[in-house]
Amino acid sequence: MGLLSQGSPLSWEETQRHADHVRRHGILQFLHIYHAVKDRHKDVLKWGDEVEYMLVSFDHEKKKAQLVLSGEELLETLQEKGERTNPNHPTLWRPEYGSYMIEGTPGQPYGGTMSEFNTVEDNMRKRRREATSLLGEHQALCTITSFPRLGCPGFTLPECKPNPVEGGASKSLFFPDEAINKHPRFSTLTRNIRHRRGEKVVINVPIFKDKNTPAPFIETFPEDEEAAKASKPDHIYMDAMGFGMGNCCLQVTFQACSISEARYLYDQLATICPIVMALSAASPFYRGYVSDIDCRWGVISASVDDRTREERGLEPLKNNHYRISKSRYDSIDSYLSECGEKYNDIDLTKDKEIYEQLLQEGLDHLLAQHVAHLFIRDPLTLFEEKIHLDDANESDHFENIQSTNWQTMRFKPPPPNSDIGWRVEFRPMEVQLTDFENSAYVVFVVLLTRVILSYKLDFLIPLSKVDENMKVAQKRDAVLQGLFYFRKDICKAGGNAVVDGCGKVAGSAEPAAEEYALMTIDTIINGKEGVFPGLIPVLNSYLETMEVDVDTRCSILNYLKLIKKRASGELMTVAKWMREFIAKHPDYKQDSVITDQMNYSLLLKCNQIANESCECPELLGPAFRKVRYSGSKTDSST
Ligand code: GLU
Ligand code: MG
Repeated sequence: MGLLSQGSPLSWEETQRHADHVRRHGILQFLHIYHAVKDRHKDVLKWGDEVEYMLVSFDHEKKKAQLVLSGEELLETLQEKGERTNPNHPTLWRPEYGSYMIEGTPGQPYGGTMSEFNTVEDNMRKRRREATSLLGEHQALCTITSFPRLGCPGFTLPECKPNPVEGGASKSLFFPDEAINKHPRFSTLTRNIRHRRGEKVVINVPIFKDKNTPAPFIETFPEDEEAAKASKPDHIYMDAMGFGMGNCCLQVTFQACSISEARYLYDQLATICPIVMALSAASPFYRGYVSDIDCRWGVISASVDDRTREERGLEPLKNNHYRISKSRYDSIDSYLSECGEKYNDIDLTKDKEIYEQLLQEGLDHLLAQHVAHLFIRDPLTLFEEKIHLDDANESDHFENIQSTNWQTMRFKPPPPNSDIGWRVEFRPMEVQLTDFENSAYVVFVVLLTRVILSYKLDFLIPLSKVDENMKVAQKRDAVLQGLFYFRKDICKAGGNAVVDGCGKVAGSAEPAAEEYALMTIDTIINGKEGVFPGLIPVLNSYLETMEVDVDTRCSILNYLKLIKKRASGELMTVAKWMREFIAKHPDYKQDSVITDQMNYSLLLKCNQIANESCECPELLGPAFRKVRYSGSKTDSST
């Protein structure tokens, strides 16, 4: 979630009182940056990945796996021994929402050469080894998207009771405040989202109906009026930010050569989000139950939905300015490049004053409406020491709003007075079990940006169709069952499109329905004769034109093979593999319940796979990996 401001958080009432101040100065800060660097051109694409981890402890006697609430101490040690000692340290560590979480990135961004693709996996291994070496006995660093028994009694170590009382940060019936990162930013976010919304957040995930699952499946919460009202039959009910932001993901950030290249990449990659999300599906279980979804996206979206009843359209507008159709964590609402304009078919709520101000300052309509849309949100936290800032040299107020708009893509202006360029962040992917898989997904996405730019590819379809794809992508087994809108002719611009401005061949102002069709992920990724060339074949022909050393080529081909086989169904997604593991577990009663023991066996297995102490051909294919490494202190003799 990024770097932290230090200091003392203001109360919600005070934060709210400063909302206009934060927005006003946030825009001024953005404008300073924009005017200073709008014409900056860099010649290399740089990029980096972010992996989020959970700390898991195994009790081999009780057959129980728990989340260890020691992320803060671990982070402190990692930073002390790493970046603070050596500015060229190969890893960087950052806090994440859960106090059982931590986030790791490479120490330096990767550059534009092909051989760097061959260093990604090594760096991820380094991170895993580095953090693992600091863990206690029987503890492991796991890259799992959602912890199956998150929110079940005793899921943390030390065990903590939830605090559903007045004064608690989330007031959750299930998720204790102790599981929230101790830095005040995180509990303040939790509390203020709840205050702003006027009630606890509500997450209802459809339950997977197995043979012995009660029909209807109903949980009762007689002791909690809010829960009793909010929980839906046949759904797994959750009531805290931690159920969403306590999940892990895999992200990639790119630095573009210029602002227009960043806008172009932002748009093109936005259409890819649902596709890669479905391909990376890794989160089928919630609060100890088997769900009917495979991806975390909607869960996080609901977990930070701070909209009031008025904003959600449940009551007439009285105290609020707008109806808002989405949560702060959701898919993007507008394309940013000129080519995207005609595909912007989603109603965009924007702060009209800010929009006018930005136009007057010389911004074009598309960028102005993007920023004015982000700025319909209130700041959720504000630190006493950070109210009055130097707008020409600081950007905290801009970042305050920007960094709490958690969308599928993020368009990131450079920080003030830095030589960092315009960046875009690709955010939909679920984290995979192994460094091999995580590298494969990252390399696939980065390569895709290379072909998008080299061949001037065009994936754009109406944004409302991308939103429909997002819904489909989260469903169980969407990777094989789902149909996704995708553009048929991705080379439409015939190599003439220019990043600055739009392909002149683009022609008509209205997108024609024939431009896109419903396709399976297999067709989109692997292609289908006479229908679609396929992204992997396009990447392969690009690779053939590149000079790549044998070793790097071999790694890349192995990565692409994984993606290819996940798309065709020859290999399983993590979500599917986890479902099968639970379905076959001797304790499983076909009632959609995941017990402590099942959770333990599953996580133990996940950790063994991650440490390569066991193979998993149905997930990974034949073992591709070159380096063998065993970095966990977990006793895997069971
Ligand atoms: N953990 C969040 C997710 O799974 C992302 C948090 C962040 O923006 O770093 O999407
Ligand atoms: Mg993060």
